[in-house]
Amino acid sequence: VSEIKVLDHGFVRLDGALADDLSVVNSARVSFASRSELVPEVDDDEQGTYLSGWRLSDKDTGLIRFLMRNRHGTPFEHNMFRFHVKAPIMVFREWQRHRISSYNEWSARYSQLEPEFYIPKPEHVRSQVGKPGAYTFERVEAETANTFRASLKLSSEIAYGEYEDAISKGIAKEQARLFLPVNIYSQMYWTVNARSLMNFLSLRNSEHAMFEIAEYAQVIESIFRDLMPVTAEAFVLNGRNAP
Ligand SMILES: Cc1cc2nc3c(=O)[nH]c(=O)nc-3n(C[C@H](O)[C@H](O)[C@H](O)COP(=O)(O)OP(=O)(O)OC[C@H]3O[C@@H](n4cnc5c(N)ncnc54)[C@H](O)[C@@H]3O)c2cc1C
Repeated sequence: VSEIKVLDHGFVRLDGALADDLSVVNSARVSFASRSELVPEVDDDEQGTYLSGWRLSDKDTGLIRFLMRNRHGTPFEHNMFRFHVKAPIMVFREWQRHRISSYNEWSARYSQLEPEFYIPKPEHVRSQVGKPGAYTFERVEAETANTFRASLKLSSEIAYGEYEDAISKGIAKEQARLFLPVNIYSQMYWTVNARSLMNFLSLRNSEHAMFEIAEYAQVIESIFRDLMPVTAEAFVLNGRNAP
């Protein structure tokens, strides 16, 4: 699957998945030693025309909604999504707090990072108003935004120059990286099941989340919706609360 661009140099790419709505239904139905199958998709005009696709029966859709509402969370764990993500370290710092998933990240001990830095677009440079727990983030004047961006770009370049210089003088990469700022891009693989993914989406594709991680979470949610549409809809109907 191709990369979906996020921010100025980042992306999300679904590297692999074993994920569908039927796995939720059948891991719940095993409680009664029964299982369901998909049913042929019928045209919405109710003429009974068969479409080429298959879908969950209405009964199974109802079961997923019931499980979601009543916090029967484990049937949502029998699936996995494996993402390849490129993002600034300040985004990964928040992302990697989500413990119920697996991570592997580009090592700045073993290889030299690329000079790619996140510089927010002018309209995304913001001020912070209010107090902890109730901040609102407001767009700043164009001049303030541009000064900030220019300064951030310059300091990132200077930092990278010091980093390269230290490496060229024989300093270990694991120490030379002390010069690098948190807007430098890194890459990781992230593997997660739908239950934990919904917890991530609930917290990070939210108006309370930092703008930059929310940009990634929106893309992740669209991929989740493509693969598990009934579960994704039930999650939204449940007030975006993970079961
Ligand atoms: C808006 C916002 C602001 C934040 N601000 C801060 C901050 O100021 N400082 C800070 O340190 N973090 C902050 N965080 C991070 C937050 O505290 C969580 O670490 C992060 O959101 C991961 O959530 P999680 O623990 O639910 O996810 P996961 O780690 O993926 O856990 C998923 C679920 O598994 C269960 N679980 C996992 N581990 C345990 C455990 N050890 N014991 C019991 N149950 C467990 C819980 O039910 C948990 O919800 C913030 C997050 C958000 C969204």
